[in-house]
Amino acid sequence: MHIHKNDRVKLLGGVDASKEPSRVVKINLSEGTAIVQGRNMAWKHLKRSQDYPHGARVQKEQPIPLAKLMVICPNCSKATRVKMTVQENAKMRICAKCKKPLGEDK
Ligand SMILES: [Zn+2]
Repeated sequence: MHIHKNDRVKLLGGVDASKEPSRVVKINLSEGTAIVQGRNMAWKHLKRSQDYPHGARVQKEQPIPLAKLMVICPNCSKATRVKMTVQENAKMRICAKCKKPLGEDK
């Protein structure tokens, strides 16, 4: 996978495209989506419950398709494509711009 949990990513579309890059909190491989901290927020209306005796409106991150995310390289701090390479029997992710490793592929 070219995007990992805890990567900093930029959104390529949607209302948050112009915002600063944010961190990937969760990846859902089967759906091909990711949750990005503080991005693509939507209001959820909760019914009355023990925790919220009057009901509540809470903001929650909605999944974003992985294709709409671009990894920010920690070395050159640019939004980049990710290339895969094999080094010492481990699949490595490398930045397509500065060619520095982005960490092992999981
Ligand atoms: Zn780079």
